[in-house]
This record gives sequence, structure tokens and C-alpha cells, in this order.
Amino acid sequence: RATLGVLGGGQLGRMFVHAAQRLGYFTAVLEPDAQSPAGLVSHHHIQTRYDDPAGLAQLAQLCQAITTEFENVPAQALQTLALTCPVAPGAAVVGIAQDRIEEKAHFTAGSDLSGVACAPYAVIETPAQLQAIQNDRDDLLPGILKTARMGYDGKGQVRVKTAAELAAAWAELGSVACVLEKMLPLMAECSVLVARGWDGQAVSYAPQRNVHVDGILAVTHAYEGNMPPTLATRARNAAVSLAQQLGYVGVLCVEFFVVEGDDEHGDLVVNEMAPRPHNSGHYTLDACNVSQFDLQVHAMAGLPLPLPRQHSPAIMLNLLGEVWFDGNGQRREPDWHAVLSLPGTHLHLYGKAEARAGRKMGHLTITGPDVASVKTTARRAAGLLGLPGLDAI
Ligand code: ATP
Ligand code: MG
Ligand code: MG
Repeated sequence: RATLGVLGGGQLGRMFVHAAQRLGYFTAVLEPDAQSPAGLVSHHHIQTRYDDPAGLAQLAQLCQAITTEFENVPAQALQTLALTCPVAPGAAVVGIAQDRIEEKAHFTAGSDLSGVACAPYAVIETPAQLQAIQNDRDDLLPGILKTARMGYDGKGQVRVKTAAELAAAWAELGSVACVLEKMLPLMAECSVLVARGWDGQAVSYAPQRNVHVDGILAVTHAYEGNMPPTLATRARNAAVSLAQQLGYVGVLCVEFFVVEGDDEHGDLVVNEMAPRPHNSGHYTLDACNVSQFDLQVHAMAGLPLPLPRQHSPAIMLNLLGEVWFDGNGQRREPDWHAVLSLPGTHLHLYGKAEARAGRKMGHLTITGPDVASVKTTARRAAGLLGLPGLDAI
């Protein structure tokens, strides 16, 4: 039997391992943490740093193909692996996705995203670039200062209203390379998943609408009518052409903002891309004929990509560490019995031992025969678990 490898041991790696194993593959996970969600379920766990040459050599020797489950692995590690083993997505494209400066430059220059632009922004890498931004820059302020590298789940971001706040925020972030992005009034957010094979064949899912709370995904709405059809088509086309232009192989997620525009439906702005399956695509496990992780396996292994088809409307609720604590900060086990007695609930827990605030511990997908019943059940489940974003369901 062939072995498929993944860099990173988080929940995305775990769900990749599950999908690979279902097709009969052995799996190998390279991850320093001894108790990682993916390492715990994989045949091989190479427990070492992502940039350890010996570990990378061992992974490449074991595997037929290798992928990554988070964008902050050193692009150099992917490059090293690629010398002796097929790696998808490649180091160059992961390098773009892991640096907001490169990513935004790519969105702005030369790429045809069906007329979808990114938010107005400025690069801040030097004190001179910082001082150049004065209070009269209403094209950039109020804005969000984001570290160029290593940010996720809203970490490494500070909201600023004035040039003075901007200067303080840059210092707070350690004066590292950043982008300042105009704070846009969002009507909604959505994301699109694309899978593309070595042969250039690409498939995609309809956009899902996402609700974030404190910069972290809370709720995903995946059903027909979740957003205006014209915007949905544009977002999907933009994401597919982005994957094609990048020569991308694997699963790519592109996040979009919906902002006020010429008509009541609003306009699209591209936010960022993730070179891997995405939290907003977890509903595909339970609501589609083929999941984003199945497509990741197919793409990297050179198997044909099935056309994704959603068979049930779905809402996904993220389960963060807070769910494991009561109002007094005492640890408690959520009432799974009550949640799972609701119709169409699918519980996924990632096997993380320690619950912490903001930590992604699992998710709950609700499927059903129609959107109304899915919403009703999702509201009940969110109420039982004390989840945020309840008013957005
Ligand atoms: P992820 O976990 O998705 O990788 P991230 O830390 O890379 O997140 P972003 O996607 O850049 O962060 O921002 C997180 C959230 O903050 C967005 O989904 C959105 O809700 C809000 N946000 C980010 N940028 C802007 C903006 N320019 N205007 C308004 N809201 C924004
Ligand atoms: Mg991000
Ligand atoms: Mg994001």
C-alpha cells in the first residue's frame, strides 16, 4: 500500500488522514507535538520540527506524495521535500499564501479575479512607511494592522483609528513586516473551495457564507440561497481562476468580503487564501458526496477529481474551548447527549486534550431536508452549547 504524507498535525491533518485511510493509504504525519490530532491517528508519526532535514528526508522516503495542513510550515521545507517527492501545493504558492505582502501583491498585480479586488492597503516594514501614513489617509484609516506572516484566527491583528494608534499597534506587534488594511463595512463574508489536480482539472464547491466572532469563524451557512446568486457565481469564478493562474495543485480556499456596492446585494472583495482545506469547508464531510479532504487526497495522489455535489443544506457551528467551561470558569463536559438527540447533528471532535479559550476543539454540522429545519436545529444546538453567533443563524 502507498503512503501519503502531511506536514502538520492539527485537525485539518487529522481529517486528511481519515480520508486517506478510507481509500486504503497509509499515512505519515510530520509534527513536533507528541499528542497532535493527526499524529494520534496516523500510521507513521515523525515527531520533529518542520524544518528538521532528517525528518523531512524520512517523510519523503516514506511517501508517494506529500501535502501540508497549515500555511505556516516553512516554504523551504516543502522545497526540500519536492526534490525527491511530489509535493502539492508547491512551495512557491504556499510562500505567497503565508505572506500577506506577497499575497496582496498577487491579488493586485496581473491576476484576473473576475474584477474582484482586495481591500485598499499599505505595506509597513519600515518606520518611514509608518510615518508616511497620516490621519488624513481615509483610504486606509480606520484600518486593521495585520502581521504579514504567521497570523491566523485573527491573531497578529490590531484595529486602529488614527495614525497614533497605528504607531502604537506596530510597536505592539514587534515592528515586524505588516500590512495596514482599510477597515471595510462588511455586509457578509464567504469563502470558496477549489480542488485542482496535476493535470489542471479543477472542481469547486458553491461559496459558503461565514460568520466570524472576534476574528474566528463561528458559523458557516452552506445551502442554496445563502447569498445572492450573482455574487456567488463571481466568487466561484474568481477562486477557480486564481487556482488556475497559480498552477495550484491540491485544495485551495479563497475568502471574500461582501461590501456595499452598486446594488442592494453588494460587491465582492478578496480577503485572503489558504493553501489547504479550510474550517469553512468542514460541512462537506456530512453534506456532500465528496469532502474537501477526499478531494485533497485525490488531487495529491493523482486520482480523478469527482464533481462535488451537496445533497443536504447544512450549517456548521465551530466548537471552541469556551464550550468546555461553565459561566464560573469551571471545566465541564458539554451535554452531547442533548445535542446529539437533535435531528441531523454530526459531531466532530479533534482529540485535543486541553480546552482553552479560542482553541478549535471540534465542530458540529447540522444537515436536514430543508433550510428552515436546519436553521431551527442549529439554533437549538447553539443554545444548548452556549455558542456565540446565535443571532446570525
Ligand atoms: P484565518 O483564521 O481565516 O486565516 P486571519 O487571522 O488570517 O484568519 P483575516 O481573515 O485577515 O485573519 O481576518 C479575520 C477576520 O477579521 C475576517 O474574517 C473579518 O471578519 C475581519 N476582517 C479582516 N480584515 C478586515 C477588513 N479589512 N475589514 C473588515 N473586517 C476585516
Ligand atoms: Mg488567514
Ligand atoms: Mg481569514
